[in-house]
Amino acid sequence: MCAGGNYCELKFEMKAETTAIQEACENLAAAARKRRKVATCLSLWSKFIRLRDGNRCVACGDTGRLAAHHICRKGFLPEAHLQTGNGITLCATCHSSAHRGFNGQPKLSLPMDAEGGEKLEILARLYELLLTDAVRRGTLRDDFYHLSDSVLIKFKLFQGFDPTAAFDGGSLEQACSIWKACPQHLLKAVLAANGLDQTWTCQTKIGGLTMYYARADVDL
Ligand SMILES: [Zn+2]
Ligand SMILES: [Zn+2]
Repeated sequence: MCAGGNYCELKFEMKAETTAIQEACENLAAAARKRRKVATCLSLWSKFIRLRDGNRCVACGDTGRLAAHHICRKGFLPEAHLQTGNGITLCATCHSSAHRGFNGQPKLSLPMDAEGGEKLEILARLYELLLTDAVRRGTLRDDFYHLSDSVLIKFKLFQGFDPTAAFDGGSLEQACSIWKACPQHLLKAVLAANGLDQTWTCQTKIGGLTMYYARADVDL
C-alpha cells in the first residue's frame, strides 16, 4: 500500500486521465491526416474536447448535456474546425448563451463582429477560461490546445496586430493574449469619444477586412 494514500490514488487517476486524453488526441490527428469524413473527424474532435475538459462545463462546472463548442465559428474560420485549441466544453445553458443572437453564415466581406456573430468579448472570455482550467488541471500541452500558426496570424489580423507580432507561450496562451488586447472597434470608439475621427487612424484592408490603427502621433 502506498504511504501517500489518497494523494497517490489521485496521481494515478490523473495519469490515467492524461493517457486517455492523449489517445483521443492521437485518434483525432490520425483521422484528420487520413482525411476521414468530416462528420467522423468532428465527432472525434468533440469526444476529445469533452474528455480533455474533464467531461464538465469549463464555464460553470455543470456535468449535464455537454457540448464541444467551436470558440471561433466554423463558418468564420473553417481551417480551425478540427484544431484542439478551438474547442471548449460547455453545458446547454452556457452553450446557448455563447450562441445567443446571430448564428447564421457570416458575410465575410464585413468586419469581424459586424453582425454580432463573433461576440469578441465572449470569445476572449472562453479562451481565458480554457487557459485557467488547463493550468489548474495540469493539462496545458500544445497538442491538447493546438492552434496553427496560420490561425494565430488571422487572430492577430482580426485584432489589428501586425501578423509578425510576437506573443509568448504556446498557442492557447498566445490566443489569450491576442484576444485580451483592445479590439479595433473599441479603439475607434475611444478615438470618437476623444473627439478624434478616423482621420486620426491608419487604415488598411486585409482579406476584405478594414483594420484601423491609432496613428503613432496620436496621444490618447
Ligand atoms: Zn455551463
Ligand atoms: Zn457551439
